[in-house]
Amino acid sequence: MGDKEKKKKKRGGAKRNMEVEQRVAYKAVREWVFLEQSNSCGNSLDTCVVDDDFGVQCYQPKEKLVFEFHCLTTCSDGFLSPTKLVERAHHRGVKVLALTDHDTMSGIPEAMEAAHRLGIKIIPGVEIRDSGVQESVHILAYYSNCGPTNSATLEKFLGDIRDGRFLRAKNIISKLNKLKLPIRWETVTNIAGKGIAPGRLHIARAMLEAGHIENLKQAFASYLHDDGPAYSTGSEPIAEDAVRFICETGGVAVLAHPWALKNPSAIVRRLKDAGLHDIEVYRSDGKLSEYSDLADTHDLLKLGGSDYHGRGGYQESDVGSTSVPMLVVQEFLKVARPIWCNAIQEILENYIKDPSDSNLQVLGVMANPKKNERILSLRPSS
Ligand SMILES: [Zn+2]
Repeated sequence: MGDKEKKKKKRGGAKRNMEVEQRVAYKAVREWVFLEQSNSCGNSLDTCVVDDDFGVQCYQPKEKLVFEFHCLTTCSDGFLSPTKLVERAHHRGVKVLALTDHDTMSGIPEAMEAAHRLGIKIIPGVEIRDSGVQESVHILAYYSNCGPTNSATLEKFLGDIRDGRFLRAKNIISKLNKLKLPIRWETVTNIAGKGIAPGRLHIARAMLEAGHIENLKQAFASYLHDDGPAYSTGSEPIAEDAVRFICETGGVAVLAHPWALKNPSAIVRRLKDAGLHDIEVYRSDGKLSEYSDLADTHDLLKLGGSDYHGRGGYQESDVGSTSVPMLVVQEFLKVARPIWCNAIQEILENYIKDPSDSNLQVLGVMANPKKNERILSLRPSS
């Protein structure tokens, strides 16, 4: 056999191993995705086998599993309601959606309801932003479908951040006023919506409305960027505290968009010590090898999502547009599922110890209506 033939065979063998790994990963992930829909999981995997360039049979699932691990709604600075977002995701073929609004989980129950109707799995999440004294670090948290182990403590933690954000928005507006770019507080809070802590994007939209800028990008580039002339910090926690808090409440902690950081490796080192599990490495335009290497250096998992806000326009990556390889999702689930199982166990144990209405509510807060019925049926009758 010539060298060329041998090489071809070797490459074929590696490809075959990859094919087996992919098949196993797809099967494992698919089982998790359809865990609660036993009829749709059947025994046979709907797959087909095609010949690749090396004449090796290559595995291709017929049914694509589309994931979205990073998206926001009108509960923070997104433009679509949780229901509308889930409907759009469904339309785009998404099977698993992690809802990650800034500093709030208030959209989860509504998203769960819509997702239940459309057969989508929701990962309850939140994106916590730190104080940004040097640079603003965003940490994503992913929880089990029962949510955090101590939702009252998490709600207080997030509530303090939101209060800080109201103060921060006021500081930014007063800086803009001093820069002779007056905008009204009422305009900003109207844009943000009732009870929603205004963010920089809401302020940028008010600036656009007032005619101070030509587009939202300009607001950030000229005034609102980190250390910009109108920038102000709130009273957010430092990123390490957010990571520790997520770990303590049964969540998986992921560093969001490290490409937005000036010194990602120093930050990743600090966050890894605090318990960080994962880094965003995939975007709609593919894998970013620089951050993938950073994850490898620190022995961290890799993930990614579109950071979809529903702004519209050709520049925005749509929900479900980030392709995360099945092997990567499988690695993530290997770490996440034991964490989530322990969290659910803790929540159930708390309820058994104290079957009070408030503990029942904790159990039901994230769950879908069907699950609530099941939980109620388990409740002691006294
Ligand atoms: Zn972010």
